[in-house]
Amino acid sequence: MNRQIDIETLKQLYLKKQQEKEVEQYRQFSASELFCPVCRQAMPVRERLLLVLPDGREVYDYVCRSCGESLGRKEG
Ligand SMILES: [Zn+2]
Repeated sequence: MNRQIDIETLKQLYLKKQQEKEVEQYRQFSASELFCPVCRQAMPVRERLLLVLPDGREVYDYVCRSCGESLGRKEG
């Protein structure tokens, strides 16, 4: 087996893992709580994939975990 390829593969895997970690952190940070007008307080939200744009971007809907009210959107 070629040693050079092995190192490249490991590097790719490492970078992929790093990216996944960053995305995960961003997701957790981006909007864990939003003000809900129905509950009248900041509520934990869950992300719901709303649609995928023709250029590949995804639009997420933030939904109140308690009452299901739509509280905002994010393109990403
Ligand atoms: Zn609510």
